[in-house]
Amino acid sequence: MSERSSTVLSLRCRECKRDYPKEALHVCEYCFGPLEVAYDYAEISRRLSREIIQRRPTNLWRYRELLPLDQPPTVGLDVGFTPLVRCHRLGAALGHKELYVKNDAVCHPTLSFKDRVVSVALSKARELGYDTVACASTGNLGNSTAANAAQAGLKCYVLIPHDLEAGKIIGTTIYGARVIGVQGTYDDVNRLCSEIAGRHPWAFVNVNLRPYYAEGSKSYGFEIQEQLGWRTPAHVIVPMASGSLLTKIAKSIDEFVKLGLVEAKGTTRLYGAQAAGCGPIAEAVLAGRDAIKPVKQPSTIAKSLAIGNPADGPYAAAAIRASGGTAQAVSDEEIVAGIRLLAETEGIFTETAGGVTVATAKRLLDARRIPADEPTVICITGQGLKTQEPLAATARPLEIIAPRIEAFESILT
Ligand SMILES: *Cc1c(COP(=O)(O)O)cnc(C)c1O
Ligand SMILES: [Zn+2]
Repeated sequence: MSERSSTVLSLRCRECKRDYPKEALHVCEYCFGPLEVAYDYAEISRRLSREIIQRRPTNLWRYRELLPLDQPPTVGLDVGFTPLVRCHRLGAALGHKELYVKNDAVCHPTLSFKDRVVSVALSKARELGYDTVACASTGNLGNSTAANAAQAGLKCYVLIPHDLEAGKIIGTTIYGARVIGVQGTYDDVNRLCSEIAGRHPWAFVNVNLRPYYAEGSKSYGFEIQEQLGWRTPAHVIVPMASGSLLTKIAKSIDEFVKLGLVEAKGTTRLYGAQAAGCGPIAEAVLAGRDAIKPVKQPSTIAKSLAIGNPADGPYAAAAIRASGGTAQAVSDEEIVAGIRLLAETEGIFTETAGGVTVATAKRLLDARRIPADEPTVICITGQGLKTQEPLAATARPLEIIAPRIEAFESILT
């Protein structure tokens, strides 16, 4: 793709619709609305078909006309196309006949869906000529930014709340990035990063590159539809931190429908999943409020979702409402039970965020809010080996024996 053949028109304000050049910008100067990438859909529809997509390699760049680069990607070339797993045993346990898990616990290279957004953001950072990248992270974003920056030879700064899980911290420091633990919540980290971005000429993947970064999440939704046999799912249960992934799954479905790549049999209902200890978007949806009330002191084992003042909260709540879905805020006990249930029925070990979506699915199915025979996808966005701490208390103890057959036989009872 040369600059001339780009399908990306501009950045456009979500609120007042003013256009901006394709630079490292994220807020509208006139109304302070967030900027979003605008595409030339007439041109995309001339270029894309199911057959063309299917002939391409199995990574997120098979949808490149719908991703926000002007040049060919240079970072994260092998990211994406994770399995959509048909879950018979989890379905039986929850009373559902057509249940799927979209499994980004095995996304390359850092085992979360953040590899999608980072490969897009770092490719864009390089296009724009940056040599240093940075991010504010609840854990997974730091892992992915550091790993992809290492491969791309970019300098990298990652700022995180200082009290993240050990697996998330070592999973960033190992790549040689400067990792800074901030004494505060994610919202404190994020505020600090906005200030740093004002002083240092760095590409902050989720601050000044946020419009490009966020578009990477659409690939998760494109894959779900392609892997369902070019169908839209009837129901999708989505974890929410800033709320961005949920809005981009909605956008991915709108785009595939608009381009005629899928047939939509009715609207896809979106269900937002959060932890009770930090569920500002879910609470607004459940209360029928438009405004998001920030959570000052998040308190949950689902640290990857613990954003008290979510940037895309109002848009996520609006997308849920427009789809006819709802939200849930589940307890830490339900999260652990959800992690265990998915592991024991499907052999998939997810992190706390996946426990949140499984627990939300269980609540919605128990309440018959989701019909048992309509295609339903649970989003599993991260890997369990990174968040082992909350499982220690309920883990099965190791059965230790002497190296003798009688010792083994004696424990079989
Ligand atoms: C970041 C993250 C999310 C949600 O991201 P948003 O787009 O900010 O809502 C979900 N799951 C995991 C594991 C994450 O790391
Ligand atoms: Zn505006």
